[in-house]
Amino acid sequence: MIAIKNYISGGLVEPKTQNYLEVINPATGEVIARAPDSGPEDAAAAVKSAQDAFEAWAKTPTEARAKILHNIANLIDLHREELAKLEALDSGKPYSLAYEKEIPRAAQNFRYFASAISTGQSECFPMGEQGFNYVLRPALGPVVCISPWNLPLYLFSWKIAPALAAGCTVIGKPSELTPLTAFKLSEICKEAGLPPGVLNIVHGYGAKIGEALTRNPAIKAISFTGGTETGKKIMGGLRNTFLPVSLELGGKNPALVFKDCDLELTVNELIRASFTNSGQICLCASRLYIEEPIYEAFKSLFLTKTKMLSVGDPFHTETSLGPLISKEHRLKVKGFVDRAEQNQCSLLLDGRSTMSAMQDGFYFGPTIIEGAALEDPINQQEIFGPVVTLASFKDFNEAMSLANGTPYGLSATVWTKDLSTAHRAAHQLDAGIVWINSWMVRDLRTPFGGMKASGLGREGGNEALKFFTETKNIFATF
Ligand code: NAD
Repeated sequence: MIAIKNYISGGLVEPKTQNYLEVINPATGEVIARAPDSGPEDAAAAVKSAQDAFEAWAKTPTEARAKILHNIANLIDLHREELAKLEALDSGKPYSLAYEKEIPRAAQNFRYFASAISTGQSECFPMGEQGFNYVLRPALGPVVCISPWNLPLYLFSWKIAPALAAGCTVIGKPSELTPLTAFKLSEICKEAGLPPGVLNIVHGYGAKIGEALTRNPAIKAISFTGGTETGKKIMGGLRNTFLPVSLELGGKNPALVFKDCDLELTVNELIRASFTNSGQICLCASRLYIEEPIYEAFKSLFLTKTKMLSVGDPFHTETSLGPLISKEHRLKVKGFVDRAEQNQCSLLLDGRSTMSAMQDGFYFGPTIIEGAALEDPINQQEIFGPVVTLASFKDFNEAMSLANGTPYGLSATVWTKDLSTAHRAAHQLDAGIVWINSWMVRDLRTPFGGMKASGLGREGGNEALKFFTETKNIFATF
């Protein structure tokens, strides 16, 4: 049993509340760790620690800050196997996914922002005889970074790395469901030479410690990734303030498959887009729209290939889908499928059968649904599970109105060999990120974020560094 502690002022400490929560392995339902169930006093201590450390960290030369961030990246690489094991245990994701993709990306997040501040350009605007303007971007101060359970270290580091690089001090709050890798990160940051108080990590429930952090008057920004409803709550608590907030929220991502696509490639990639991490990625495709002439061919191949995916133990090499994160989440996913069935939709593949076959963990198999109307909850609300709907479209305009017909606007994919169709669709889609004939290929330099109910602001590359800094324009005359 792992005993997790908060990381405040460079030390591992018990919560002032003296309360703890249980961390469950979703593959077995067993308790694997206990984590602090922190409260407002812990939030206050973490914020105070970040405040005290701010001035010195903001004044630390860029090169020295970058060196520490590189050290963190190198230590993540060194502990890659252990971190991947912790991630698979904690979240139920396949170990291979954590080891191959997510842990290396977490290291890369620190490495990228270390390099970005080392090579960043200065901004100076000569004004002839009058003088010149130059721009300064001082760090904001202590900031709060809150992350979800689906890509634990990957997303936690995606926020923390740019904040630290920019010169902010941080209070990080990982999800209460997956605290293990964030706990290991405390140890790594200490070993990497990060000064005490520059990063503080507090554990616990969002409604308690998360809310206490976001409402603390000493914090200077909030970077949040999680559900749209939580995003609204955070915004609701900020009335009468001018706090910068970045919100990366839910999605209901469409895929538009045109009749001239490469069918084999499209099906293979859309299986990946629909079922990676059991559909528990904000960018996963969940509504697949296929042009009429190839609808039957697509459906048949998609179904055949999806049936080849294996659901099982996250540590087995052949596993494609591990369990869902929790019993409650599985019930929610099942509820959507039950309602679709009651609404007379056809279940081409029914993942509920996995529940009785694998009773120990929170397993749910790939599910493919046909015949759902655009207005049905299954097409309007984020399910965040391995459930997709299939429908056909007649022409480009119908494809656009189906794709844009939800409150969300995070990502979309377009599958066609026609350049004009691809770019026309990309321009018209309500989505912060559009992939053409691919899915989830991301360069860390590019902006990332959602439109409509999928978020506010952009992270990634310079957008992230700008978010954690103030912009000051200075004019000097000769
Ligand atoms: P969640 O909103 O329940 O929780 C996210 C984090 O917020 C957790 O750390 C939680 O403890 C905390 N939290 C909860 N209530 C809070 C409050 N009132 N104040 C402050 N913090 C609070 O989301 P989740 O279930 O952990 O994650 C799944 C959601 O995250 C999905 O909707 C998914 O689409 C979204 N997500 C979005 C992105 C993106 O980049 N857009 C990436 C990953 C996940």
